[in-house]
Amino acid sequence: MIKILENLKFVILLVFFIANSQNEKSVYDYNLAFGHGFYKNDGSETRSTSGKPGHSYWQNSADYFIKVSLDDELKKITGSETITYTNNSPDELDFLWFQLDQNLFKKDSRGNAIIPLAGSRNGAKGQDFDGGYNISSVKLSYENKKKKLSKKTMFLDPVSVTGYQIYDTRMKVNLDKPIRPRGGKIKIEIDWSFISPDYGSDRMGVLETKNGRIFNLAQWYPRMCVYDDILGWNTLPYLGAGEFYLEYGTFDIHINVPSDHIVVCSGGLLNPEEVYTKNQIQLLEKAAKSDETVIIRGADEINDPYSRPSENDRLTWKFKIKNSRDVAWSSSSSFILDAARINLPSGKKSIAMSVYPVESNSMDSWARSTEYTKASIEHYSNKWTEYPYPAAINVAGNQGGMEYPGIVFCDWQRKNESLWGVTDHEFGHIWFPMIVGSNERLHAWMDEGFNTFINELSTDEFNDGEYKEPKRNMHRFSSYLLREKAEPIATPPDNMKEINLGLLAYYKPSEGLILLREQVLGEKRFDEAFKEYIKRWSYKHPTPDDFYRTIENVTGEELNWFWRGWFINNWKLDQAITRVKYVNGDPSQGSIVTIENMQQMPMPVIIEFTTESGSKSRHKLPVEIWKRNKKWTFKYDSDEPLKRVKIDPDFVLPDVNSSNNTWNPEIGAANAENLSAYVGEYSSSMIPVVIKMVVENNELVAVVDGQPNLYLTNDGDGKFLFEEADLEIQFNEEKSSFEMSVSGQIFEFKRK
Ligand SMILES: [Zn+2]
Repeated sequence: MIKILENLKFVILLVFFIANSQNEKSVYDYNLAFGHGFYKNDGSETRSTSGKPGHSYWQNSADYFIKVSLDDELKKITGSETITYTNNSPDELDFLWFQLDQNLFKKDSRGNAIIPLAGSRNGAKGQDFDGGYNISSVKLSYENKKKKLSKKTMFLDPVSVTGYQIYDTRMKVNLDKPIRPRGGKIKIEIDWSFISPDYGSDRMGVLETKNGRIFNLAQWYPRMCVYDDILGWNTLPYLGAGEFYLEYGTFDIHINVPSDHIVVCSGGLLNPEEVYTKNQIQLLEKAAKSDETVIIRGADEINDPYSRPSENDRLTWKFKIKNSRDVAWSSSSSFILDAARINLPSGKKSIAMSVYPVESNSMDSWARSTEYTKASIEHYSNKWTEYPYPAAINVAGNQGGMEYPGIVFCDWQRKNESLWGVTDHEFGHIWFPMIVGSNERLHAWMDEGFNTFINELSTDEFNDGEYKEPKRNMHRFSSYLLREKAEPIATPPDNMKEINLGLLAYYKPSEGLILLREQVLGEKRFDEAFKEYIKRWSYKHPTPDDFYRTIENVTGEELNWFWRGWFINNWKLDQAITRVKYVNGDPSQGSIVTIENMQQMPMPVIIEFTTESGSKSRHKLPVEIWKRNKKWTFKYDSDEPLKRVKIDPDFVLPDVNSSNNTWNPEIGAANAENLSAYVGEYSSSMIPVVIKMVVENNELVAVVDGQPNLYLTNDGDGKFLFEEADLEIQFNEEKSSFEMSVSGQIFEFKRK
């Protein structure tokens, strides 16, 4: 689905600077960030500790044969389906759960009940109509236990179910005989109908155009709930924000519509000769060999009876798709249709197609849709894994943007980079969640966020950067990414404020992957691990831990601090330069730099040094400096006075407070305390040493006869450090005495 708040610049203006006030004291707790025991379990037979599917991984499957017909006057869909459900789990199943998503549009649905007065993207936008499923029949065919059965005799005769129970968007069917574990099967036949909403939670619906209605049908048939090794039956209701979690299978779909309609559907068309004209079939064959877009049915042919086979009032279109978790389709008399070949890395081909009304037909709009579709699918296939379906179809509709296997619905009014953006996003969803089948209802970030991330790379590449965007200033972006009022990314979508979904499901997880890729792991190493995650979990059901474990195992890095900070909590990042001083007060001997982690998120550090003569150099520190320190002091080999020291000079980290990132001599002087109160001679009854405190260049210096001078670092509150020797001096409030600790030994000195 497309994010709601498309224009990010606008969002940034809206939230502007949040709580960026300088915290003087660090709140960082390194044990909270890096502490052992990130994973709550040690893996299982179904999910390996390495992030792979376990040695006994199982998944149930559902194959659908569906016959459906469209009444375009009444906007009524009438269907009957036969689901062949296979129970691969180790459990006997005594009942089945189904998803009845159309029931969201019943007046008394839970989803309607939670729509706030201010309105929502979800539900039917207040349309007054008789929505929801009318289930007219449910039948079950149990397995025939006799041996040596053919495909035809493996099921007993169907029996009608009278006692099925419907609760909001779920239906429960009790079984007379349980389905046996590890391969048991059952056949379920369901007959239903519903009236389509015009605006179906921004995921399906009906658009009026001047040449007829565009029907975009999705969540249009009763679907199996997923039974898995995490929750058993996944029965969270469809409320609107949370998307879908579905089993894989093969779909055979017969769609009966008025003959002046063109139908497109997930998968491949099985009977072109029955539904296209001879000329159109030839043009489709030409398109299948063409990298340029070929018009199959042009704007001037709409309403032309010769552009449709004309023997019957109605036609049945037959489609098939394998390895799919869903199926969606579109039907309209208004469609312009064009197509071009998709070249896949293995040498196989697919076909990009677009259908849209004349209202969308211009070169700054949908006339480029097939070019966008082809480029998008080819990019993702080359970069991650190959596109698996026979066609990729972009349909203009009144949805903002919504994805299904092999077919997507995008806003008919989009133009230029906005149409590219939504098309590329919806087709990116083929990889997440159509191929990598995560549970969208619980973990929106695993499909929307991962998809938004791959969209960035695709957009950079498209047509030599036609729609490439400049790099973001992450310091500024941090006020949006890390805003205080947001829930953590790991929050289920129905559990977060609707306004936060764009941030938490799309932008923030995507930026997290970019940070991991560019600032923590490096592009090559990250891409290898991300690709491996896709490979391991293609057509399977990964959880967040499977993702975290895969990235850690493949890259060989401990990343618990990153998962905790970015995904599981909403931790802020604020790296600060606390102070800079010269070794022995002499710039030619090098500088001692102290940096501090002010907030809870640790990250590696990049520091740029600019000397008085203008030379620049950079120093990188790994995140491990924060594993047991709030502050870190290191020596930098400068040989002349410094003009500036700057943390994160390229603004690549989401640092919420830039004001403490820079040091220069003026800042150093301005921050310097009046040290005259410390000046004097101090002696100890414990050792025969006299320490003379003097001030030189705004630094307190400890002078001991016969010893090199100690240039102390002011740590505040009467505390001074000499990091090179692990020496710490703490004055009392009156400055009449101090305690000196050297490697844990403490000596008391009194003013003479
Ligand atoms: Zn999306």
